[in-house]
Amino acid sequence: MNCLFCKIINQEIPSYKIYENEFVYAFLDINPASNGHTLVIPKNHSENFSDAKQADIIEVVKAKQEIIALLDNKLKPAGYNFISNQNQIAGQMVFHYHEHIIPKYDANEGYI
Ligand code: 5GP
Ligand code: ZN
Repeated sequence: MNCLFCKIINQEIPSYKIYENEFVYAFLDINPASNGHTLVIPKNHSENFSDAKQADIIEVVKAKQEIIALLDNKLKPAGYNFISNQNQIAGQMVFHYHEHIIPKYDANEGYI
């Protein structure tokens, strides 16, 4: 399948891995909105949130909590935005369901 994120899962395209289990892969966004901007994707392909199987969505949500704990530990952000874009009109560019985890820092913190 000609899907960028499926290629990342299959290591045909390199990525900086943050977390992985049987169902989910998470990696740094190539164009980060902040330090530690992470994308969480199910290993099963689906176009977007609506198209995804509930079991995969549940795995993504569980992984999100694990990943946030990792990022808390490593980067100590002050908070997060959790974002998922659905369809082109909403800014979706890669049509493999994914969640953004975007750490937020106090104004005088940020890149290490
Ligand atoms: P979307 O706009 O579809 O919600 O988000 C897609 C995200 O994937 C964007 O934030 C973009 O920077 C990221 N992205 C696009 N191509 C690549 C890539 O080849 N590697 C990585 N790590 N991120 C990518
Ligand atoms: Zn895919």
